[in-house]
Amino acid sequence: MLLATDLDGTFLGGDEESRSRLYQLINAHPDIDLVFVTGRGLESVLPLLSDPTIPTPQYIICDVGCTIVDGDTLQPVQPLQGHIDNIWPGEHIVGNAVEQVSASLQRQDVPQERRCSYFCDADEIDRALEALVEDLGCDLLYSADRYLDVLPKGVNKGNTLLNLVTHLDIGIEQVLVAGDTLNDLSMYEHGFKGVCVGGSEPALLEATENSTRVMHAPSPGCAGILEALGYFGFLGPAGVDTEVRDIATPGKADLVIVYHRLPYEESIIDGKVVRHRPKSPNGIIPTLLSFFDDNKAGSWVAWSAHDGDPQDFQTHTEVDAERFPNLVAARVPLNKDDIDIFYKRFSKEAFWPTLHTFWERASFKEAHWQVFLKVNKQFAERTAAEAAQNATVWIHDYNLWMVPAYLRELRPDVTIAFFHHTYFPSADVFNVLPWRREIVGSLLQCDYVGFHIPRQAENFVDVARGVTPLEVVERVGCAPRFLTYGCAVGLDEMTKTIKVNDRHIGLGAHPVGIDLNRIKTVLEDQKTRLRMQELREQLKGTRLILSVERLDFTKGILEKLVAYERLLTDNPELLGKVTLLTVCVPAAKEMRIYDELQQQIEQTVGRINGQFARVGWTPVQFFFRAFPFEELVSYYAMADVMWITPLRDGLNLVAKEYVATQGLTQGSGVLVLSEFTGAASELRGAILTNPHNPMELADTCYLALSMSATDARARLDEAFSVVQHYDIEYWANDFLDNVDLFSRKPKRKVKLMGSDSQVA
Ligand code: UDP
Repeated sequence: MLLATDLDGTFLGGDEESRSRLYQLINAHPDIDLVFVTGRGLESVLPLLSDPTIPTPQYIICDVGCTIVDGDTLQPVQPLQGHIDNIWPGEHIVGNAVEQVSASLQRQDVPQERRCSYFCDADEIDRALEALVEDLGCDLLYSADRYLDVLPKGVNKGNTLLNLVTHLDIGIEQVLVAGDTLNDLSMYEHGFKGVCVGGSEPALLEATENSTRVMHAPSPGCAGILEALGYFGFLGPAGVDTEVRDIATPGKADLVIVYHRLPYEESIIDGKVVRHRPKSPNGIIPTLLSFFDDNKAGSWVAWSAHDGDPQDFQTHTEVDAERFPNLVAARVPLNKDDIDIFYKRFSKEAFWPTLHTFWERASFKEAHWQVFLKVNKQFAERTAAEAAQNATVWIHDYNLWMVPAYLRELRPDVTIAFFHHTYFPSADVFNVLPWRREIVGSLLQCDYVGFHIPRQAENFVDVARGVTPLEVVERVGCAPRFLTYGCAVGLDEMTKTIKVNDRHIGLGAHPVGIDLNRIKTVLEDQKTRLRMQELREQLKGTRLILSVERLDFTKGILEKLVAYERLLTDNPELLGKVTLLTVCVPAAKEMRIYDELQQQIEQTVGRINGQFARVGWTPVQFFFRAFPFEELVSYYAMADVMWITPLRDGLNLVAKEYVATQGLTQGSGVLVLSEFTGAASELRGAILTNPHNPMELADTCYLALSMSATDARARLDEAFSVVQHYDIEYWANDFLDNVDLFSRKPKRKVKLMGSDSQVA
């Protein structure tokens, strides 16, 4: 069958349950062809196409019948569109002529093509206007006592639909049309079966009253369409009552963490999988695990490598039976190829550069996107099976961008929260992604989306606004927690709540913090002291500038080395007095995009050392490997200057770890931090620098080297108080407290003084 439906008030109308039921019914029946027939212009239909809960139509008839496109490619359906184009005099000819006779008519400021739409009172339609429109070879359409359209002659929703049905060679009996206002009337005039949904405009009901082929449904919107499908016997005897979907049976977990990594590490010893604590240097995993300390029923969804027979795969494993008796790891089996594409290559090659504003480095492959979708779907299905009724699901980072879209369809009841660990750019950059509509459509299925800093949340609003109509419901000031005008990623106000399709979505800024106890423990260890002693001897009295980062073009390593070269050239008194110790963590072998950068870095280090080294002094000590966290902490404690200069960084934990180590050891080290890192917008006390400006990069390092101990200590105190207060526990608790405000959990009702009151 072919369902040709108006949108506003009809296919987009009705209660949430019947909308969801009709949409699933259509998705489950590939033999239902769906056609949107709307008064909206094509551009205003596009937001619906990015909403994963709404089925994609095969065709879209928009502009009240003047535009007809394929729902998939959005290209005109020919020759039908050509016929309409040929009889349309042109926007400016019509507009100018109408203005001559009815200067008071106000043009509607909505997208429109091959027609001119106005706001109009009934008494403004006079003989002169009618005659003019006739002379132009056009038609007038007046609806809802307010909207006036000048259309090409003979073009309306019904005629364009009839032309499409004829073009597709579909029998009239197989068509059901649905609408609710007078501008849908033409659809009912060609002998199609029809439904006027509940609450239709009285004039439409009156005009279709005597038609035996038109049903006046009691219920509004989608519920009315469902009633008509049953009434006319479409979809066979079982009709619309068949169960259309396996709604995932709720699982047991009240909190589901969806993270690409498991909360333990797996290795194979003597052919057996052995689990041990993650070596993960940051405190995110232990902190997330602490939510399950009070026996909370939970599940941790992550991938696990599996190439063999699916039968041999064990989905559930315990995490720590003693400490978390009610927590299970729910593993998504991925084969080597999927891991390679989903995790190691596609995300890093397509998304990582774009998110960090290096979009020219990104490469986009449709086949890889399909793997990304497949893996995200697997994650969503696993999550849907784990989550208890009304559970909270906390999804992490851009690798799992499409999970909300799939999950929302399977589990409308769960509260979906998403934390974006990576930088989020503005629309100018993000829109380069070929799949931006799908990604934003998915994120808008969340109830709460968190970012590190206000700038990233605001950039998300910027991006989402370009995809769908969006209302900003609440904005909050960013100070004093965050910098406003003081750095490149500062912002004075941010959006806290948006409304999309009548749903509220919360946004928040939650910079990840660190675990100070972990650093304390390392500092108390005797081995750390010995290491510091050794390092002091090796440095031979030179002042230590430390730089720690992964090998990545976002980290600004080359720029920093070049600035160091300039520093030594311009300030010969530093020769032999300072050492730049660089810890650069190599990328996985599969990540070829870093090969060239690695070579350039090695050449630059060689050049600097070749030029300035003296017997007994090497200006750059370059370590191209990862250091254990314990060792790093010794370096943090010894460094006079921590030089962190990413060109762009979501946050930067190293900066916080340095401040914490110096703070805990009463040090007076100076942090020089790129103003393009997320951490810059909260770490008051750091010397901020613009890494895109080579001169400034060298000058700020010099400033740090020459700063008095009193000044340095004052700055450090300021930064340390931030790191101490907003630690990793604060981050996680603050995030989930905010999620609670946007929870889908039904509010508990209590009787108070004889009246119903809601309690959160
Ligand atoms: N790190 C480490 N060993 C190294 C270098 C870095 O353990 O040799 C850790 C460091 O302590 C920090 C993390 O890696 O916790 C890097 O986090 P950051 O946010 O600074 O950068 P990202 O790599 O996430 O972009």
